[in-house]
Amino acid sequence: MTGGDLPANPLSAEEALRWVYEQHERVALVASFQAESSVLIDLACQIIERPEVITLDTGRLPEETHELIEEFRARYPIRLRVVQPDAAEVEAMTAKHGTNLFRQSVDLRLKCCDVRKSRPLERVLSGYDAWITGLRRQQSSTRAATQQVASDPQHGGITKVAPLVEWTKEQVWEYIREHDVPAHPLYAFGYTSIGCAPCTRATAPGEAERAGRWWWEVDGVKECGLHWRPSEATA
Ligand code: SF4
Repeated sequence: MTGGDLPANPLSAEEALRWVYEQHERVALVASFQAESSVLIDLACQIIERPEVITLDTGRLPEETHELIEEFRARYPIRLRVVQPDAAEVEAMTAKHGTNLFRQSVDLRLKCCDVRKSRPLERVLSGYDAWITGLRRQQSSTRAATQQVASDPQHGGITKVAPLVEWTKEQVWEYIREHDVPAHPLYAFGYTSIGCAPCTRATAPGEAERAGRWWWEVDGVKECGLHWRPSEATA
C-alpha cells in the first residue's frame, strides 16, 4: 500500500507518525541512535506495536552506539534490523584506497559514505513503502528546506517522513528528559552530532551543531549522502 495524497504540512510529530503507519504497509524507522532517533522510537512504540527500526552498521561506529542500540533493544518492543555494507564493496574500496580513505579527499570521504551508508540504505529501502527519519531543519543549512512529508526520489519515490522537522534541539532534549528516554552517552562529552567514530569529534561552545562531522574538510558539506546529494547544492 502506498500513501496516496500527502497530508498538508505541518503535522505534529505524533500526527505524522500516525499518518505514515496508517497509510503505508511497510514502514522503516531509520535510526542513527542520535537524540532524534531516541525520541522517534519512543513515540513510535506508543503508536504501533513493534515498529520496524533499521540502523546502518557502517563498521566504523563508536562502541557507545552499539551499547545504546542494545539498550533500546532490551527496553523497547522494536523489530530491529542492523544493516551492513556489502562486504565485497568494502573490501574493494579499502584494497584500493586504504581503510581511512576519508582523510585523503572529500571525494574519497563521499565514496566511503556511499559504500558504508548510502548504498546499504538504498538496498534495504527498496523493500519498504515509507521511511521515517530524524531530520530537523535547524540542524544545518542543507536541511533548512526539509519537508515533513514528501516523496523521496532518491529511494524510488517512496514516502519520506521527518516528524521532528520543526523541532528545536531544546525540544528534543526536553522530550528525552520528560520521558526518561535513553540518549547517546557521547553527548555528555561535548558531541552535538554523532556518526562514525573516526569522522566525529566533540564541538566547542558556539560551533555549529554538525561542525564535529568531517571537521577536517574546509568548506565541506556536512552530509554523507543519505539525505543530500552534491547536485542539490545551492549557489
Ligand atoms: Fe566512512 Fe566516515 Fe562516512 Fe563513516 S562517516 S561512512 S567512516 S567517511
